[in-house]
Amino acid sequence: MRFILCITLVLKLSVLLFALPSTQTQKDIQLFFNKTPIELDTPALIREDTYMIPIKDILSSLKGSLSYSRRLNAYIVSITDQYEFVIVPNAKDFLFNGQSRSFKNAPVEYQHTLYVPIKAFLSLLNYTLSQKGNEISIVKSSHFKAHIRKPSSKPQNQPSTHFVIHDIHQSIKNGRQTVLIKSSGTLSPAIWSAQNPPRLIIDFKGSICKLNPIYWSSSSVYGKIRTSQLSHTPLFTRLVFDLHEDTLFSKNLSQNGREFEISFPLTTATPPATPKSSSKAIHLLKGKTIYLDPGHGGYDPGAIGYRGEKEKEHTLDISQRLEALLKSGGARVIMARKNDSNPTLGTRTREANNTKSDLLISIHINSFNKTYAKGIETYYYKKSDKILANHLHKELVNALKLRNNGLKKETMYILHHSNMPSALIEPCFMTNPHESWLINQPSFRQKIANATYKGILNYYKENG
Ligand SMILES: [Zn+2]
Repeated sequence: MRFILCITLVLKLSVLLFALPSTQTQKDIQLFFNKTPIELDTPALIREDTYMIPIKDILSSLKGSLSYSRRLNAYIVSITDQYEFVIVPNAKDFLFNGQSRSFKNAPVEYQHTLYVPIKAFLSLLNYTLSQKGNEISIVKSSHFKAHIRKPSSKPQNQPSTHFVIHDIHQSIKNGRQTVLIKSSGTLSPAIWSAQNPPRLIIDFKGSICKLNPIYWSSSSVYGKIRTSQLSHTPLFTRLVFDLHEDTLFSKNLSQNGREFEISFPLTTATPPATPKSSSKAIHLLKGKTIYLDPGHGGYDPGAIGYRGEKEKEHTLDISQRLEALLKSGGARVIMARKNDSNPTLGTRTREANNTKSDLLISIHINSFNKTYAKGIETYYYKKSDKILANHLHKELVNALKLRNNGLKKETMYILHHSNMPSALIEPCFMTNPHESWLINQPSFRQKIANATYKGILNYYKENG
């Protein structure tokens, strides 16, 4: 991949050298960030009059971080906690806060470093760039600041992209905790979740905050909403919901875009959808040994999700939730791994066979090199696998309400080499922006465990 990239780049550069004498590797650019000089470890490039700068060299000035998603073949650039770029080298299209955008010149990977077209990249962060000979200066654009400082002098000149968020209304509607956010302009909310403690964060770009700093709530979902003018350049209003625990939500923007509604299912003291272990379940699962295989582990992270999360962590978490359900239902459970270790596929399968386990369930999260892939897939190989896989798949589709990609036959090692009915679940795509958000919610992972448990019970109802 890198080798080919370098060749492509060398070819392109040499072609451009003939066509455009100014196109060359520029070694002596001096970069200034708010008047402070920045050292470039690797020289800047010029492609078709566009300056390409190694992103890593300006990250500390931007308070950003860079990570690489192996499965996406993409770089993830986070700037503070407001902006996220997903950039594929050599592709003009990229994701900016989950939305598709396009550069005129594609970012490139050169000498193992990601180069971005600096002007276009920084303009999204509201920086401006000026050039004098070999000196390039980056400064924060002060356009918005001027308006904030003098709101009364020429209010009619205030661009229409600026508006005021003036009201929050909390209510219980259709059995859901509902929050209505009202503004004088078109809202384009960006929603984030954060952990420890669990929070839901909504940023409204281009808006002036005229809200109370705190809205208290006695709801079972969150204790309060905190609001603030997060920044003036660019304008950002931030709402933070202090959640009691991670929760799912639905959102709705009114037709004129001025009202944004977010609602949460009301939770009860006990986890909402956990099936109770009934005497029926104990009857069905008594004397049964279930082998659970949390995919990947140790040096092998499995897929890397849209938000940089690791598949191996989610597969272990879901397996542990399922283990608890199965044990409470009276089954004996053997775990292929109980921590961040990595037994080989051979070890896992042999253990399942040697312990004469009755079923083997392998738990994975799907991924793809494009973010649009989504939905639920369940795999089987042997004839005896198919009945089990079908029961699990049906319950996952019912519970998760994601796209049904169907039951699939595949020669997977663990299905191929196990003696007992076995199935491998891939309940969602962690490379999809929405499904990555879901899988990061403990309540969603509990849903997966619940559905798989229910599928196992249904299997035994028919094949006890
Ligand atoms: Zn996997």
